[in-house]
Amino acid sequence: MSNELIIKDLHISVQGNQIIKGLTVSVKPGEVHALMGPNGSGKSTLAYGLMGHPSYDIDSGEVIFNGVDVLELEPNERAKLGLFLAFQYPTVIPGVSLANFLRSAVSAVRSTDTNGSDDTELIPMREFRKELREKMDQLGMDDSFARRYLNDGFSGGEKKRAEILQLAMLEPKIAVLDETDSGLDIDAVRIVGESVNSLVGPELGVFIITHYPRLLDYIRPQFVHILLDGRIVESGGWELTQILEEEGYDPIKEKHGIAEVVQQN
Ligand code: ADP
Ligand code: MG
Repeated sequence: MSNELIIKDLHISVQGNQIIKGLTVSVKPGEVHALMGPNGSGKSTLAYGLMGHPSYDIDSGEVIFNGVDVLELEPNERAKLGLFLAFQYPTVIPGVSLANFLRSAVSAVRSTDTNGSDDTELIPMREFRKELREKMDQLGMDDSFARRYLNDGFSGGEKKRAEILQLAMLEPKIAVLDETDSGLDIDAVRIVGESVNSLVGPELGVFIITHYPRLLDYIRPQFVHILLDGRIVESGGWELTQILEEEGYDPIKEKHGIAEVVQQN
């Protein structure tokens, strides 16, 4: 079974408003795809919908991963299949170190028992430590980072690093990363870019959702898709990011007869 993520004619609404209106895209391990769109175009709605967030209603369409209907699965089952969805654990947890959190998460995702996670056996501490140290070395992270409480007082960039470390430890087949539009300074963007690059390989596919052409200067996706009015209106290669950087979204909106991206705030 191929580890392809297939999104087919997906429709998602939020509070009765249709936001994603027939989105189709596939990502295979080894491929790096970027989905770009202006603010309010529905990028985060897509990410939350894929995650199974209860406020985002899947009205129709399919999401298949590894031949399985993802939309029928609980978030932890999605993770066990090898799908990594960033922001799955966005919460601040004072009292739980990043290392302990990662040990629980990795143990849960690797465990073969299927009945809940409360009684999951933790992977042995020595083994876990060794693995954690290797991954942190690979990502150029300082040991002390893992001793900090999860997301407690983390800067935007540190939250990103914690997320990337989680990605490295979980070793998913496909990672969906929503790079939110705020809170990342240039250094953080560079760090995310370089860390993602160091993890990309034939075993990992990345679907990165962003409005930053700058981030893509580091990541260099093979496939670039432009989201407008809830659909992918253009797909191409790297050159699309350059066109966006130079001309913005207006010429593309005009070409596709999209007057204005509606903001419902
Ligand atoms: P992007 O991530 O591309 O900036 P979003 O997916 O956050 O766009 O938002 C797309 C549209 O959906 C916006 O009009 C936004 O106001 C609306 N929206 C998103 N999430 C919610 C929500 N939880 N409640 C109400 N409206 C929402
Ligand atoms: Mg967003």
